[in-house]
Amino acid sequence: MHNIDIDLVEMTLDVTKYVINRITKTDPELGMPKKEEELKALVGETITAKGIGGENAFQKWKDVLVKAIVPIDHPRHLAFVPASPTRSAIMFDLITSASCIHGAYWMEGAGGIFAENEAMRWLVSLTGMPEGAFGVFTSGGTAANLSAMVTAREHWRDQCEENKAYKGLIITSIGAHSSVKAMAKVIDAEILLVPSEDILTYERLKETIDGLDELSKKRLFAVVATGGTTNAGIIDDLDGVATFCEEHHIWFHVDAAYGGGALAADSVRHLFHGIERADSVTIDPHKWLFSPYDCGAIIYKHPELAKKAHSQEGSYLDIFKDEGAQGFNPAEYQIQLTRRVRGLPLWFSLAMHGTDKYKEAIERGIELANIAGEMVRNNSELELVREPSLSCVLFRKIGWTPEDYKEWTYKNQREGFALVTPTKWKVGETYETVARFCFINPDTTEEDITAILASMN
Ligand SMILES: *Cc1c(COP(=O)(O)O)cnc(C)c1O
Repeated sequence: MHNIDIDLVEMTLDVTKYVINRITKTDPELGMPKKEEELKALVGETITAKGIGGENAFQKWKDVLVKAIVPIDHPRHLAFVPASPTRSAIMFDLITSASCIHGAYWMEGAGGIFAENEAMRWLVSLTGMPEGAFGVFTSGGTAANLSAMVTAREHWRDQCEENKAYKGLIITSIGAHSSVKAMAKVIDAEILLVPSEDILTYERLKETIDGLDELSKKRLFAVVATGGTTNAGIIDDLDGVATFCEEHHIWFHVDAAYGGGALAADSVRHLFHGIERADSVTIDPHKWLFSPYDCGAIIYKHPELAKKAHSQEGSYLDIFKDEGAQGFNPAEYQIQLTRRVRGLPLWFSLAMHGTDKYKEAIERGIELANIAGEMVRNNSELELVREPSLSCVLFRKIGWTPEDYKEWTYKNQREGFALVTPTKWKVGETYETVARFCFINPDTTEEDITAILASMN
């Protein structure tokens, strides 16, 4: 399997050609999912005792499978949180694979981990967290949030023997990402949701905690604030939440998986005031820092607490912690052991382009949201649900039902034109279905926005 034969060389050239084609295409085909049976009928048996051959398998990829994909970097993909990895990061992602690096321990991965850490230092500097704060790249925001929550919970239990008997309690708001609730289940903690998607403030937290019984107050060990909600780009009052957490001696986590990239944007940086006081911060470079999937990051004010919570013991692992292998071991600061050096593509791209280019590309996303907001304001059939925030725009088409939004979404996707999905926004006690844009790709144009709005007619 590993012999370098002529076929493999040819295959390598084919793959390289394909990659060059793909990454120079700014308007890739917007595919459609197909049912599994349909894909099976088109592709046939691929896993066989003798193999079907690389050329054949690659052809099936090109003819069928890739067409059942919506590329995340399509300029009219404005759904969920899209992405737009830089060409240089994608190229270096190939090199990351080709270099066969085990990214858990310095002993094996030093060169790669060194580079990742250079990129991490820049991320940490964006937060303004104090000297000593540092982090590690994870598979995404979910793993980053989980790693932080485990660290917070272990720290809380270490502080007081009594806490070991309690189920921990975390406060966040309904604007928090679903992964916060899902990861609370994983660590068997209870979540208390402040019932507003709007800015989480000191006062809202105080009201919430005032309503708790004494035992629940004891069980409370963390607040998760959001630095850019996924739905609407809302940034909680991070400074107020920091003060609340300090007063109550509880962990302050900021989930900035989506919004974290905007820390680099001077026009909105002030909205994150207080993030520098956090105990931990999640940022997803695979969202707004133009890294290929998958690349999240978790930063800790006191990394040694994460090490205490996550360091794995095992007789065959001891050597990694030996004097001779001294260095930073990413495995000790998050939930995963064997890991890809997934910060490496980000490092290369940052080193190549410089951080100013990142600033500009992120500012462009914010600018596109403001342009879209202005277009909605000037259209008598449309209405902003709220002012654009970061790169999110929520708006309604007057008179539309949830069914209308759904049909509009499917029609645009069927036609290979755009992927724009509706969302829900809470008004009082009810949820309204509305349209939503999230801009990441700096190649999205004003014409794209105009055309998408026109598709609502
Ligand atoms: C996307 C997102 C997550 C989850 O991140 P993954 O990388 O998808 O695991 C968590 N929190 C927020 C605020 C997000 O936007």
